Amino acid sequence: MTTLNDLTSCIAQFDPNAMPVHAAQAIVRQWAVPVATVERVALRAALNRVLAEDIASPIDVPAHDNSAMDGYAFDGAALSGHASSGGDTLTLRVAGQAFAGHPFEHAAASGECVRIMTGAAMPAGCDTVVPQEFVTRAENGNISFDPQRLARGANCRHAGEDLAKGQSALRAGRILRSSDLGLLASLGIGEVAVRRRLRVAFLSTGDELRSIGEPLPAGCVYDSNRYTLFAMLERLNVDTLDLGVVRDEPAALEAALRQAAESADVVLTSGGVSVGEADFTRKMLQTFGDVAFWSMAMRPGRPLAFGRVWSGGRPAEGRPALFFGLPGNPVAVMVTFYQIVREALVAMSGAEPQAPLSFAATSTQPLRKRAGRTEFLRGIATRDADGRWRVAPTRSQSSGVLSSMSEANCFIVLAHDQTDVGAGEAVDIMPFDGLI
Ligand code: AMP
Ligand code: MG
Repeated sequence: MTTLNDLTSCIAQFDPNAMPVHAAQAIVRQWAVPVATVERVALRAALNRVLAEDIASPIDVPAHDNSAMDGYAFDGAALSGHASSGGDTLTLRVAGQAFAGHPFEHAAASGECVRIMTGAAMPAGCDTVVPQEFVTRAENGNISFDPQRLARGANCRHAGEDLAKGQSALRAGRILRSSDLGLLASLGIGEVAVRRRLRVAFLSTGDELRSIGEPLPAGCVYDSNRYTLFAMLERLNVDTLDLGVVRDEPAALEAALRQAAESADVVLTSGGVSVGEADFTRKMLQTFGDVAFWSMAMRPGRPLAFGRVWSGGRPAEGRPALFFGLPGNPVAVMVTFYQIVREALVAMSGAEPQAPLSFAATSTQPLRKRAGRTEFLRGIATRDADGRWRVAPTRSQSSGVLSSMSEANCFIVLAHDQTDVGAGEAVDIMPFDGLI
């Protein structure tokens, strides 16, 4: 694990009060140590889990040469023999049939073929399949077709073509998807080793917050961040621990954070890190945590604290948990989660984080942008009749307006050094699909 000294020298290159996004991501990555515990689970329970072992195929897939079409299997040598004799049709006697799961038990002799269905094992002596659409059947049951329409080996799938025995099928660190479950099943594997789920605790801070079901006095708001956080964490398939709402009191927050560090690998809080409240959280954290940075050169999401908290109540005492103090504003919570927290959680889960999909689209409107910070606007991307992507910002870009996230289908990402964008210029967009 990176020591605090390594981290401090890394941080020293940047202003911890306005950490550029790429630097923040690099620092977070250094502290994102994968969980070590491995467990074996049944195949269906392995969906979205992180594979903890390399899987080599124990068998050839498919196990035998088989037909890719419904038709007639025969020895393809007859094609060239026939061509040289100058005839324009090839006639074969049907010696039997092969269905999927019911092979033809004999060998096809010269001048013979075998009626065969897709997936059925190729009979001995056969290497080519003529599709049934190509043949005419005589009354005596023989088939004829034009041999020029076929090459030797056509429509035959070979044993081990998908995966040969011993070949690498899946690598450790992969997040198992639907196709992977099917692939493992095709190898006859019913159980795999996966990393244990990451445990993530989260809480909201703020005297103004009320939980659903409580009355809403003047000046109060319902706590929405715990619901967005819960949902985003569920999508990452981590175990969640909801620690509720914590009042703006140092003692209450410290107790909650220590409890979280006791049982969780990561603690997420929202609120209480903006300018007016920073000192309060900062002082408390400095007594029992390591803080890497407090603020990022990003919008929304400028106030974001990152470090570690220790269950023992003092640095290096007890158990550490990675700490992300997210801003309070609901949109800022989501943006900082996706840009900073998500990658750390993926890495700590034992997987190799993949950069989120992003591509260029034409901005339909001028966009104001100040150099020196990365901005994430909420955008609505559409594809025009020519197949080109265009993007417009949502009506509100306020970091308090959560409906802008529901209205949007992508982030418009304006890079650190970028300045104003004119209408018709290209911008990078990051689609929500697959991300959110
Ligand atoms: P703070 O960072 O604590 O100053 O909060 C910034 C803004 O976000 C304030 O308007 C808060 O009321 C609001 N806010 C903070 N936490 C939450 C929450 N859990 N749910 C909804 N709004 C919140
Ligand atoms: Mg607050």
